Amino acid sequence: MSLRVKCPTCHRETEWENNPHRPFCSDRCQLIDLGGWTEERYRIPGSETQSPLDDEDDDDDQEVR
Ligand SMILES: [Zn+2]
Repeated sequence: MSLRVKCPTCHRETEWENNPHRPFCSDRCQLIDLGGWTEERYRIPGSETQSPLDDEDDDDDQEVR
């Protein structure tokens, strides 16, 4: 059972565990994000409500502000 998060840069699902670049999927996305902050923010998983519709693509993002 592995926790998956969406990469803030490319929005691809990536593993949280064993991921040195989390919450990014790769060092490339990490550099991109650090190099150019736009509207994306760090999203810490854990506050999201798991829904039965959580198959593979949850485009209905819920942001806590
Ligand atoms: Zn990425």
